[in-house]
Amino acid sequence: MSNPKRSKIIAGNWKMHKNRGEAKALAEAIAKGVKGEKDLPIVVLFPPFTAVSTVGDVVKDTSVNLGAQNMDHHDSGAFTGEVSPPMLLDVGVEYVLIGHSERRQFFGETNASVNLKLKAALKHGLKPVVCVGESLDERENNLTDAVVRRQVGAALADLEVTDLKTLVVAYEPVWAIGTGKTCEATEANRVCALIRATINDVFRSEESAPVGDSIPILYGGSVKPSTIDEQLEQSDLDGALVGGASLTADEFLPLIKSAQKRIQALVKV
Ligand code: PEP
Repeated sequence: MSNPKRSKIIAGNWKMHKNRGEAKALAEAIAKGVKGEKDLPIVVLFPPFTAVSTVGDVVKDTSVNLGAQNMDHHDSGAFTGEVSPPMLLDVGVEYVLIGHSERRQFFGETNASVNLKLKAALKHGLKPVVCVGESLDERENNLTDAVVRRQVGAALADLEVTDLKTLVVAYEPVWAIGTGKTCEATEANRVCALIRATINDVFRSEESAPVGDSIPILYGGSVKPSTIDEQLEQSDLDGALVGGASLTADEFLPLIKSAQKRIQALVKV
């Protein structure tokens, strides 16, 4: 039974898909689909940079939130091709993905750069969604736990407990992203619990409640309407970061509805 006190989140990572017209239409369909609904999860859309403003205009004054897929950690400067935290804030962005596996795999993102970006996001009041997860090779060599612990520990280096109020972590096994192969729900839950325990180890304090217990941890990796219910039933899994199935309202809205049902069930307990 997932802790009802933790926020439930359904987030859509549109990756390098959707021109402005397509992004506008999809954001409108999602905003319309959740309009007037109660007990919603936090819904966040991560469009490509070229459509962030467009989607921001659509979701302003709705229950849908705006995110960006990446950022640089500097405030400004000679960093061609990069976008800074103040620039994201300027166009109304609230959430930012940090360390998505595609950034790690193809664009040289490292645990050290994830840490710099996380610190910059928090400094500027952006809500970070830090992505961690093992590759297929690492899983096959029984390195999942070590890799995930290392990624989480490195991301959180030099932070204080008080910095973590808006932190969200996404467990995204690389082998499950965009492959149609979903990590079994109970195994995803086990790794989410490990992430929570790792956060608690990093910030162990006798005075305060374990901070990891209040941090939402999402699962990502080929989440679909047919997989979400079992995933949301897990005790340490507080939502989903969704790629492919976030690209149409027909697939994304049912994920939001499933989370809404889950929230309603948790309230009744
Ligand atoms: C992602 O992009 O973070 C993701 C999990 O993609 P998909 O749902 O397509 O596997």
